[in-house]
Amino acid sequence: MEKDVVVIGGGPAGYAAAIRTAQMGGTSLLIEKNNLGGTCLNEGCIPTKVLYRNAEILKTLKNIENFGIHVDGYSIDIEKIQERKNNVIDKLRNGILQLLKKNKVEVLYGIGKIQDKNTVEVILNNGEIRNIRTKNIVIATGSTSARLPIEGSNNPQIFNNKTLLDFNKVSKSLFIIGGGVIGMEFANIFNEMGSEVTVAEFMPAILQQVDEDLIKRYKILAKKRGIHIHTSVKINKIEKDEKEFIITGENKDGEVIFKSEDVLLAAGRTPNLRRLNIEEMGINFDKKGIKVDERYMTNIPGIYAVGDVNGISMLAHSGSYQGIQVAERIMGNEDTLILPPIPSCIFVFPEISSVGITEKEAKDKGIKYKTSKFMFGGNGKALAMGEEEGLIKIIADSEDDTILGVQIMGAHASDLIHEGMIAVYKKMKCSEFSHTIHAHPTLSEVLSEAIMTVNKESIYS
Ligand code: FAD
Repeated sequence: MEKDVVVIGGGPAGYAAAIRTAQMGGTSLLIEKNNLGGTCLNEGCIPTKVLYRNAEILKTLKNIENFGIHVDGYSIDIEKIQERKNNVIDKLRNGILQLLKKNKVEVLYGIGKIQDKNTVEVILNNGEIRNIRTKNIVIATGSTSARLPIEGSNNPQIFNNKTLLDFNKVSKSLFIIGGGVIGMEFANIFNEMGSEVTVAEFMPAILQQVDEDLIKRYKILAKKRGIHIHTSVKINKIEKDEKEFIITGENKDGEVIFKSEDVLLAAGRTPNLRRLNIEEMGINFDKKGIKVDERYMTNIPGIYAVGDVNGISMLAHSGSYQGIQVAERIMGNEDTLILPPIPSCIFVFPEISSVGITEKEAKDKGIKYKTSKFMFGGNGKALAMGEEEGLIKIIADSEDDTILGVQIMGAHASDLIHEGMIAVYKKMKCSEFSHTIHAHPTLSEVLSEAIMTVNKESIYS
């Protein structure tokens, strides 16, 4: 029987599209070649956050004397850490499977290949081949680690984000190539675990998308924690002798050489377009991914691309949202398509999150803006928690007072950002926000004080 939707790829974008189609009364089939949950669940968001929690506990233990508690000694049990990580993944994967079953989404494990706009061939993992007829196809094949033109970088002893998650020892030293989100999250995790961490970034700044004020402060904090960060450095060669890796690069002063027990390649992601037949199908794409319109439809009507594979924003929640939107439209919900602001979070110490525009973007767009900052150090709850590092920065339109951007660096930034997201989404004015009451003592008060500071209405700054 012909399906309403066949989805290729069982990550957060793909399974969301398949489930929402079924919820709206359609028939959907999901094809996944590996594990349900995709990069996010199996080798991305979730396992890194399990390890981030380990790092957070270690960080607390290192400072435990400040709380008047003496701990006589502790050690790391890597087997137990791995077991906990794998249990969390299994639990969530089983949850996805149950949701698919509950919604009567058919799941096939194998490789999906588009034959024509109404047929997907599936090479099942047992070798069997099936052709599925469908009215619509959703490509949700995600992304993989980008390969770098570095001599020696194909040495299998070099870690990538997937292999490092299964670590069975804490390296004495870890050299990370790439100072983006993935590189910096691993840098923080392994720094707390006890590795001597060095990060090399090709661009002049790490975490490029983050507001410059936050990054300046973050770099100072990272240095204090012992993370060595080198920017504007191009790595050319990785060699290994019997003891360690020798990494050769260049910066503005000439050749630089680093030595490290282990190396992690964490320089970018590339859309997963292999074996889909998209060239033969004439589907437009470039190196960022499959090109789509505002409804996430490719140049071929009835074929859509959602999540990392379209390169719009490589975040799990953005992919899920796109998957749901596509299913809604396919199933006939033609309500105006809304493009809400996408919050982003970086799990370093302290956490960083943002929504809307940065000060630089406001400048580049020629927007007349005003800014304010409020420090976590001025907040009662943050001090009580021993988490006084960080600040919240607000960017608002100086002509009509609308909140345009919220940047947070501090404890629980990844949870605090959502109030900022509503403010940006609903185009709230600072003066309106100032009339909302925030419970005391909470970290949310940092956001409310930061917004009140825009119009000099805060009594604490
Ligand atoms: P994916 O999750 O990549 O899923 C695609 C699926 O398609 C895969 O399961 C793959 O096996 C399957 N597939 C591919 N080709 C085929 C085919 N031809 N046939 C059948 N199946 C196929 N994002 C966040 O929002 N927050 C985070 O904290 C975060 N942390 C991350 C940490 C790391 C280390 C990494 C690598 C990524 C992280 N991300 C995070 C990014 C997030 O994982 C991705 O944005 C998200 O997984 C994209 O979802 P997706 O459904 O588009 O693709």
